[in-house]
Amino acid sequence: MPLLGAHMSVAGGVPRAVDRAVAHRCEALQIFAKNANQWRGRVLPADEIREFRAKVKASGIWPVVSHASYLINLATTSRGLRQQSLDAMGDELDRAEALGLFGVVLHPGCFTAGSEADGLELIAEGLLDLLRERRRGRTMVLLEHTAGQGTALGSTFEQLASIIGKMDDHRRVGVCLDTCHLLASGYDIRSPEGYASTFGQFGRLVGFDRLKVFHLNDSKKPLGSRVDRHQHIGEGCLGLEPFRRIVNDPRFRALAMLLETPKTEGRSPNLIQVDPLDERNLNTLRALVTD
Ligand SMILES: [Zn+2]
Ligand SMILES: [Zn+2]
Repeated sequence: MPLLGAHMSVAGGVPRAVDRAVAHRCEALQIFAKNANQWRGRVLPADEIREFRAKVKASGIWPVVSHASYLINLATTSRGLRQQSLDAMGDELDRAEALGLFGVVLHPGCFTAGSEADGLELIAEGLLDLLRERRRGRTMVLLEHTAGQGTALGSTFEQLASIIGKMDDHRRVGVCLDTCHLLASGYDIRSPEGYASTFGQFGRLVGFDRLKVFHLNDSKKPLGSRVDRHQHIGEGCLGLEPFRRIVNDPRFRALAMLLETPKTEGRSPNLIQVDPLDERNLNTLRALVTD
């Protein structure tokens, strides 16, 4: 059985995300360990970290991952932006380690100059340095497969495999696959044949042992659009069938499958309350699981 969950807000403090996950009967959870659209985040007080860890333990929710800031770009050739990105990703890893998280989901980066191979090299080098500086850490770096918007790297399995290879198959690097990004980047998982061929390629190029997390999102945009717009499960260009196959695929048993679908707008951010949209999407997925 996959571990179904969702991205939850940390409004009111990181422990509140666990309360929200419990309210939605999540089995796995994703959070932002700091504001994803800013370089700097507030320092997490020790008592807040302690409360978060205690709540995670008591809830049995696992794995818990964070999603790194969208500003980080480890593929840039700009010295200033690269240093800022390295510092920010280091901070993400330190926060995740302090919170006891399983991993940090990261968009590999966008190449700004030079070739695609240079960009992949920069990503791998940067991540290796960060992990070397945190030799005793346990938190994994989870490279997210992207929709391939603009010059975003990581939209092909070849590129993900290349980064991992350049990292000498480091034990602390894994992969996060997003169903919306798969379709948008051109992997047609809608038909049984397309599904088989997509995951056949993934198994050959990256390997299922590297796959740690799924983001389950339907897509507002069609196959190969390279545009990243999430939609409610079963209501976008993917439809229900790919989700039915994924949640029942024995290769993905016991993997975290997390929603990043649109939330209800205009609700008080600090309250712990069930979002009917999250509940509906989770129930849709639960109903697809057959065993
Ligand atoms: Zn992402
Ligand atoms: Zn996305």
